[in-house]
Amino acid sequence: DAYLGAIDAANEAFNAYVAVTHDKAREMAKASDARLAKGEGGALEGIPLGIKDLFATEGVHTQACSHVLDGFKPRYDSTVTANLWADGAVMLGKLNMDEFAMGSSNETSYYGPVTNPWRAEGSNAQLVPGGSSGGSAAAVAAFLCAGATATDTGGSIRQPAAFTGTVGIKPTYGRVSRWGIVAFASSLDQAGPIARDVRDAAIMLKSMASVDDKDTTSVDRAVPDYEAALGKSLKGMKVGIPKEYRMDGMPAEIETLWQKGIAWLRDAGAEIVDISLPHTKYALPAYYIVAPAEASSNLARYDGVRYGLRVPGKDIIEMYENTRAAGFGDEVKRRIMIGTYVLSAGYYDAYYLQAQKVRTLIKRDFENVFADGVDVILTPATPSAAFGVADQEMNSDPVKMYLNDVFTVTVNMAGLPGIAVPAGLDSRGLPLGLQLIGRPFDEETLFQTAHVIE
Ligand code: GLN
Repeated sequence: DAYLGAIDAANEAFNAYVAVTHDKAREMAKASDARLAKGEGGALEGIPLGIKDLFATEGVHTQACSHVLDGFKPRYDSTVTANLWADGAVMLGKLNMDEFAMGSSNETSYYGPVTNPWRAEGSNAQLVPGGSSGGSAAAVAAFLCAGATATDTGGSIRQPAAFTGTVGIKPTYGRVSRWGIVAFASSLDQAGPIARDVRDAAIMLKSMASVDDKDTTSVDRAVPDYEAALGKSLKGMKVGIPKEYRMDGMPAEIETLWQKGIAWLRDAGAEIVDISLPHTKYALPAYYIVAPAEASSNLARYDGVRYGLRVPGKDIIEMYENTRAAGFGDEVKRRIMIGTYVLSAGYYDAYYLQAQKVRTLIKRDFENVFADGVDVILTPATPSAAFGVADQEMNSDPVKMYLNDVFTVTVNMAGLPGIAVPAGLDSRGLPLGLQLIGRPFDEETLFQTAHVIE
């Protein structure tokens, strides 16, 4: 009731929820109470969570914040949400996001932008919460849920976490089932939690993760007790600092934050080593070929027949065209056009195939560094703090917006786990985050190290 009341009072200001499931929340909470009274209960018994609109939730609004999915209510839950309910969690509602998770500011949502609960000192200007999981990050930061699910294809968990002073982890590709999560770029997509601190994120990820027959890329490995990693000493740990992440034009404040992070880990007993990830500069351009290529294929199913919106036409072809023209926003159309272009017969070799080769090189860069004994890599999470809603410069050129992902996309291209952890405030009093990147399936080291920074 306290969370529902907070949502009812504050959601108009933040626009974090696109659907609030009052009745379902109370019903689930009652069932939790009954289990607890009998001395039963799971790891998340009674914990109220917000769910990104990308996850299928039975009988509840699931539209990836797109007009094309108008009215869609799935008859099943995603594996991740089913896992959370099985552990006793309670659903508060569905959270705003960039349309089909394409964006870095939550401004491509059909339901309008989300506002970041943070303001710069002495200013009342509205700031973005980041994207695409902007609703998840804002809701957690504003106490409108105890934790939230999110997804990350190129940074959509970590960048919004950094912009809102929250913790977000993208696990190793395959750690969490993608079944029942609306697909954006299937070889990059992973779900993870956004939470108020590292411990909450560790507890939530344990519940979310599982092997699943319905997602053949999910991996059959025991899910460790991530919480047990917290508080362990960093003695003997090797932390890599990649020189390629020291980008031209990076604000001095980001560099200062990075240096602070290095000092904290050194003081905690870790050994700091300089490393090189030579193909880093190709990650962003390669990502913006691979991700749209997969998206153009995944989004072919929104045809006015199977789900949501239908805009009639004189025949079926015109109906498809009318539905897709009216149903998709500008950014989604841009991705579909880029994707179909790079996959087309004449350009496949020049763009898509090259991008896949670059992806292999990026992955090898990381493999080499880990083979040299590095346990974890420390970088900034984003190149700046949160920017303004409807920022002229950011929205003047899509590439400017894409540059927000410069520190996060490499992790998805290589399938590695990455966590964003709050590390301080900039000169205007806005949160900044650091990112830790780990070996495949070594989320424990990320939680252990992030806990020292938070
Ligand atoms: N901002 C990136 C994009 O627009 C990443 C999005 C995401 O991780 N879902 O593609």
